Amino acid sequence: MIKVGIMGGTFDPIHIGHLIAAESAMAECRLDEVWFIPTSSPPLKSGAPGASENDRYEMVAAAIANQDRFRVLDIELRRGGTSYSIDTVQSLREQHPDHSFAYIIGSDRINDLAKWHRIEELAELVTFIGLSRPETTATPELLPEELRCRITFAEMPAIGISSTVLRERLAAGKSIRYRVPDAVYAMIRRHGWYGSTRDDR
Ligand code: ATP
Ligand code: MG
Repeated sequence: MIKVGIMGGTFDPIHIGHLIAAESAMAECRLDEVWFIPTSSPPLKSGAPGASENDRYEMVAAAIANQDRFRVLDIELRRGGTSYSIDTVQSLREQHPDHSFAYIIGSDRINDLAKWHRIEELAELVTFIGLSRPETTATPELLPEELRCRITFAEMPAIGISSTVLRERLAAGKSIRYRVPDAVYAMIRRHGWYGSTRDDR
């Protein structure tokens, strides 16, 4: 049985918090691989994303290029529309019957877990690996017991970085160097994404 961690997100842009979360979950939960799955349109998020689907995908591909055990899948982008995790997991399980899947989620997603589309079904098909984010206190004790018992908690160093703040910094001409991998930083600057046209400082 191959154990796969699913790292779902908008990755708008991908940053070191995502990468350290994936690496920590993989090490602590003895996963064989982590598959990054950029969402098309996330159900619980408002506002249009900053970068296009293709650009978000390419940033993830560039960010994980040096880690053999990480992959990026365009399954939700190809499906289009609202990206429900249950649809993704059902099709991954059909394609890979010999794999087991665990969803990797930060504090904010732990807290909204009960609101996920068809969560009871999803929780029968996957387990969850929870990681804490410094901006949000995880409150798994508020979740129904049948969900809480499906979450394994893993440790990671606190990384107080979110894509929202990175987008704001870029729009304000502030530097995000080292908060994203060098290759991602170079892509953003080269294309002027997120309004990053000015000299940053
Ligand atoms: P945004 O601000 O646009 O929502 P984000 O930084 O929250 O971006 P997402 O793409 O929404 O990034 O998150 C994907 C997954 O990564 C979620 O499960 C989220 O909780 C987790 N995650 C994101 N940043 C961190 C971080 N700094 N530490 C731990 N987990 C994180
Ligand atoms: Mg988020």
